[in-house]
Amino acid sequence: MLQTERAISDAIASVTDEKVSAILAKWLDHAASLEEETITIRRHLHRHPELSFEEKATANFVYLELLSAKIFDIQRNVGSGYGIVAKIHGAAPGPTIALRADMDALPIDEETDLAFKSETPGVMHACGHDIHTAALLGVAQVLQANRADFAGTVILIFQHAEEVKPGGAKSIVEAGHLDDADLVFGIHVNPSQAVGTVGYSLKYGSAASDTFVIDIQGSGGHASSPHTTVDSVVVAAETITNLQTLVSRLSNPMDPMVVTVSSVDAGGGATNIIADTARIVGTVRSSSAKGREKVKVHLIEIAKMTAIMNGAEASVDYHDGYPAIVNTKSVVEASLVAIEASGVFTQTIESNAANGAMMNGEDFAYYLQKVPGAYFTVGVGPDASDVPVATYPLHNSHFVANEAGILSAMKLFLVVLSKHLKVVPHD
Ligand SMILES: [Zn+2]
Ligand SMILES: [Zn+2]
Repeated sequence: MLQTERAISDAIASVTDEKVSAILAKWLDHAASLEEETITIRRHLHRHPELSFEEKATANFVYLELLSAKIFDIQRNVGSGYGIVAKIHGAAPGPTIALRADMDALPIDEETDLAFKSETPGVMHACGHDIHTAALLGVAQVLQANRADFAGTVILIFQHAEEVKPGGAKSIVEAGHLDDADLVFGIHVNPSQAVGTVGYSLKYGSAASDTFVIDIQGSGGHASSPHTTVDSVVVAAETITNLQTLVSRLSNPMDPMVVTVSSVDAGGGATNIIADTARIVGTVRSSSAKGREKVKVHLIEIAKMTAIMNGAEASVDYHDGYPAIVNTKSVVEASLVAIEASGVFTQTIESNAANGAMMNGEDFAYYLQKVPGAYFTVGVGPDASDVPVATYPLHNSHFVANEAGILSAMKLFLVVLSKHLKVVPHD
């Protein structure tokens, strides 16, 4: 039965924890009844992965699923690609909360023996974005069917191109799709977490991931006469050593940072030739924006000055990647209260640099630069009671997710929404 606005605001004012729990329980039951369907959706997506900025069929599939859930407030081709933004309107005006799932796959040849393995050679859902999308479609169905239960609006973002910079998120924010949002939530599956667990971080949910290429120009010659050359190999070695001070002496120990030289290239393998040029390639993973900028400036300076000191020249090509995810502490804490009280999850785990959970890049960071919110990880590893089995990390051609994680992800979104939307008790 439809309620009047007055009746709704009275109902909201009179809401008790018990009533919120009862409504949440109904949503969770509904989600559980959709488990098989969402697994089928996930397997379809897994079979038909599409690369970043090419998710045309995936987006079309999502669009049709939303229509069949009777959701009609849909915008397609948002931002710089095939992103979709859909809105579900509750019983009355209230908070606007955005939920994001990414849709793109990776240029990896799948090597699992899943019955539903990728049918597209060289492309694989190895980062679990098929799970994110399937879970958000399940959440969409639950919310649409139960929209009389809440006041407010839920914005569903099915984002294109998370894996390839500049990513889809920034363009979706710039196109204004978060202008009305009060909060934003995102999730990512994590195969190193047991299914049923939720990972969180009170501050940094991921690292800014920048890359650099340093080209050193020396002057080559005969290996027997180094005094007639400028040895680019020695300059490279010194540069690499000097770069080690960026983290140890420049960055704030409270803000995690990694500077890695991942590859060095010089000379052609001859023992009697001093190389003209050397190339150093690496990545900088940082958390605070201030630390990130500082390290960038100094990295370029160290490379150039070390070369000059040795009579060589260095040019630095520095690429800014995604910024770090900075969660809103109060939102994480409020969400955790609901997550823990729900009794749905076996454990909440704080992810941090110490357990290696956060130094990846993620363009969800752009949403959090716009509005407060939080990013959680969802376990898709073996059940704690399972016989230990080999698990492969994300971005691995053997990556297999525990599909029970799909329902976990749906429940996580619903629990968080029950906390932050205004629940409207009614008959
Ligand atoms: Zn990925
Ligand atoms: Zn991912």
